[in-house]
Amino acid sequence: MATSANPLATTCCIIGGGPAGIMLGFLLARHGIAVTVLEKHKDFFRDFRGDTIHPSTLELLYELRLLDKFLKLPQSQVAKLSGYIGDRTVTMADFSHLPTHAKFIALMPQWDFLYFLAAEAARYPSFTLRMGWEATGLIQDRDGTTRGVVANTADGPVEIPAALTVGCDGRHAISRVAAHLPLIDYGVPIDVLWLRIARLPSDPENALGYVNYGRLIVLINRSDYFQMGYIVAKGTFPQLQQEGLPSFHQSIERIVPFVAGRTAEIDSWDKVKLLTVQVNRLQEWCSPGLLCIGDAAHAMSPVGGIGINIALQDAVATANLLSESLLSGSATVHDLRSVQNYREAAVRNTQRVQVFAHRMLSHVLHSTGPFVAPLPFRIVTSLPGFRYLTARFIGMGLQPQHIKNH
Ligand SMILES: Cc1cc2nc3c(=O)[nH]c(=O)nc-3n(C[C@H](O)[C@H](O)[C@H](O)COP(=O)(O)OP(=O)(O)OC[C@H]3O[C@@H](n4cnc5c(N)ncnc54)[C@H](O)[C@@H]3O)c2cc1C
Repeated sequence: MATSANPLATTCCIIGGGPAGIMLGFLLARHGIAVTVLEKHKDFFRDFRGDTIHPSTLELLYELRLLDKFLKLPQSQVAKLSGYIGDRTVTMADFSHLPTHAKFIALMPQWDFLYFLAAEAARYPSFTLRMGWEATGLIQDRDGTTRGVVANTADGPVEIPAALTVGCDGRHAISRVAAHLPLIDYGVPIDVLWLRIARLPSDPENALGYVNYGRLIVLINRSDYFQMGYIVAKGTFPQLQQEGLPSFHQSIERIVPFVAGRTAEIDSWDKVKLLTVQVNRLQEWCSPGLLCIGDAAHAMSPVGGIGINIALQDAVATANLLSESLLSGSATVHDLRSVQNYREAAVRNTQRVQVFAHRMLSHVLHSTGPFVAPLPFRIVTSLPGFRYLTARFIGMGLQPQHIKNH
């Protein structure tokens, strides 16, 4: 523990209780390192964060001896990812041959996953989670070295001195702004509209991607409703609103015919949330006393549903690389840089694939009428091995991580 008269002082202060922050907090506490995670919301009940727990994450849970317990939680399991491209059904990925104990993606609301991980972390006395504490700045020396975090709480502002601060505060990270870490933005041609639509027991269990009539819709099964992602070309939401709700309903029903009659429940644009998609990365993930990981270091697009996986893998790599130094009370910039050196290639190459997929999606969004998949797409998706390669990329990522000393 950092030596300070302040009772809030800790060895590692993590800003952000998303997948990266909670996993890192858990793993550091497991090594006996004093860690405090700050989450600005009072609970985890938020949408828009992705519901996918991938085979490589399930493997991490296996290594942590938590897999059996996790599989008892309500969830649906998808062994194959299918897309309905025009009038064809295409299997895009088949996870059943992956070298993991769980050969499927588990779909569950992210709040259930975060509550599960946070409860496991809380079994370690050196883990502290502060819900409703919002980081507003960093404690910094004149030379820019970070010495902890300033946060707003219900009882007023507090300072949390820390040997290391880790920014896991997502795409709008205050950590990287406060530390003046420069950002490279890739530019993204799509946005996502996020809404709910009732689900009936007779609906397909694993309804996922639908491409047709210049639109792409993703449906995530949440038992009694579908979480729907309706992909639009960036900046076109106002035009859609001008065309009116009946036209929006019609467009959904034309692409996903089995929801016909249920779209009327979207009776106000207030029920449709616009989520702006970003893909970017920091040039430097760290400065003295501060490291950023997950979306704070590299915002991921929803394409492929892989951002959570990457954030969790960053967290595991960080714990593996920094635990020893933190056990001795501090981490040098050299230690912090080792995280970026180790993870950056996997992250950049994953983002390249996402940027390529955006270009493909952009073509789809600018087409009109019934969609016919181009010949190269049809050839590639019918090649033996295609589904296995996509399953490896989506399910395990380019650099699967393992828990050290499990
Ligand atoms: C529309 C959309 C859909 C997506 N769908 C998927 C999907 O299906 N599957 C998938 O794998 N990925 C998906 N992604 C990407 C995924 O959401 C991110 O890559 C992933 O959540 C990153 O995790 P993280 O822990 O780094 O950050 P986040 O999940 O963003 O967590 C950051 C946390 O920090 C907290 N926070 C922020 N600022 C502060 C502060 N100042 N003080 C304290 N706390 C703070 C936030 O409240 C939040 O809890 C999607 C992204 C978008 C935009």
